Amino acid sequence: MNHLETVDTLVIGSGPGGYVAALRSAQLGMKTAIVERGQLGGVCTHVGCIPSKALIAEAHRYQLLRQWNKGVTSGSFEEAQAFKQLVVNKQAGGVHYLLKAAGVTILEGEAGLVDEHTAKIEQQGTEQMISFKNAILATGSRPIELQAFPFGGRILSSTEALSLSEIPTSLLIIGGGYIGVELGQMYAKFGTKVTILEGGGQVLPGFEAELAAPVIRQLNADGVTIITGATAVKAEQDEDTLILHYLKNQEQQFVRAEYALVTVGRKPNTDGSLGLERIGLQVTSRGLIETDEQCRTSISHIYAIGDITSGPALAHKASYEAKVAAEAIAGQPSVVDYKAIPLVVFSEPELASVGLSETEAKAKAIPVVIGKSAFGINGRALALQSAEGFVKIIADQASGIVVGAQIVGVEASSLISELALAIEMGATVEDLAMTIHPHPTLGEVIMEAAENAVRKMMLGN
Ligand code: FAD
Repeated sequence: MNHLETVDTLVIGSGPGGYVAALRSAQLGMKTAIVERGQLGGVCTHVGCIPSKALIAEAHRYQLLRQWNKGVTSGSFEEAQAFKQLVVNKQAGGVHYLLKAAGVTILEGEAGLVDEHTAKIEQQGTEQMISFKNAILATGSRPIELQAFPFGGRILSSTEALSLSEIPTSLLIIGGGYIGVELGQMYAKFGTKVTILEGGGQVLPGFEAELAAPVIRQLNADGVTIITGATAVKAEQDEDTLILHYLKNQEQQFVRAEYALVTVGRKPNTDGSLGLERIGLQVTSRGLIETDEQCRTSISHIYAIGDITSGPALAHKASYEAKVAAEAIAGQPSVVDYKAIPLVVFSEPELASVGLSETEAKAKAIPVVIGKSAFGINGRALALQSAEGFVKIIADQASGIVVGAQIVGVEASSLISELALAIEMGATVEDLAMTIHPHPTLGEVIMEAAENAVRKMMLGN
């Protein structure tokens, strides 16, 4: 068996956690290798963030073309899929280029830990051993499969839902979280009859009702049927249809669709061949690895980042932890601080949040002042014909320091970064209000929401 040279850092998994960790480790002068059993770039690049956003952008263009009556043909979906693949390939190529340019050794195969300093890499019957001084585990997650709805045939996970070759006539989505809403609205824009089944009282359950409302209105306008308080029970499928039975108000009802998409969360890849048990690394009841503020596990030279650790399963959270872990290995005093992790739903209108919501601040008994401003009279939003939504800023009542913010509206995904920076820097609403924002831009609504909070502070409420 081939035994490779010892590395300072071995990274297992090449998603936005793993590849960023490998890059940072190499940039800090450490001999670094990364192992990937699938495709470089991980879930995010191949079956997550990037393909979904490419298809969402295409669905939006498709809907606009249809509205403008430019004679869209069914061939357009093939083109949309081809465009998605082009974007994915470019992104994956970029990851490969960056790793190579930084001098990272890329190893293909499935890594399993043999002991605390050795991993075995298996690929198509061949095995290699590699020794490491430090390891960063970044093996990510996979869709949760419900026993009653095993993936296959007409029951899809998000992975298959992003790779259909034709626009489905009808699609039933089990789970109204952000992935269900994004993919549901996307297919509705392509012309699919979409139904979302959500167990809770509202789709996008993590968001306050006033923030989810504009998205729900647009989902309805796009023809999406939303059934809340519903529990999917069983599915029957034949060659061309699927019947899904669900319980609502203790009554069994059913809905018929061409496909069902199950999006009820993700499961960390900490089981199977990774071999955590061989080195005595424990996982929680949810399969997550516990880490300290430097992303270090209970074995001090082994780190864990991204979807296999607690916190939101988001690409930028994985990349953030990646930098901290690599810097910790290099002996730097970097530590994680989770107070400003943005969360974005790429719906129409977009929804974005960072820091505390008003509800969370109240639950923590933090006295806050709320600043709000709508896109309704913003010149740029009007010009873009996207004047729906508002900005909400939550600030400490005494100091005015921004502790949270939410945006529902056009380009919320980009706008939220200003508020993440404000929280990160400890900025006040006055800082935001007195920052000159160019006119006419969407960012002016942030400035106006901050002004609203400053006025309320001056008035003492
Ligand atoms: P992953 O990206 O899951 O990568 C882990 C890699 O490790 C995989 O490539 C896997 O093959 C490899 N691996 C696993 N085990 C081994 C092993 N034993 N040996 C070798 N390799 C191994 N997040 C956002 O922030 N924004 C979004 O818009 C967004 N959209 C999403 C849309 C969808 C449809 C989905 C499914 C997810 C989306 N996410 C989004 C979530 C995001 O994709 C994940 O949070 C992110 O990919 C996690 O990164 P990671 O590095 O932890 O792991």
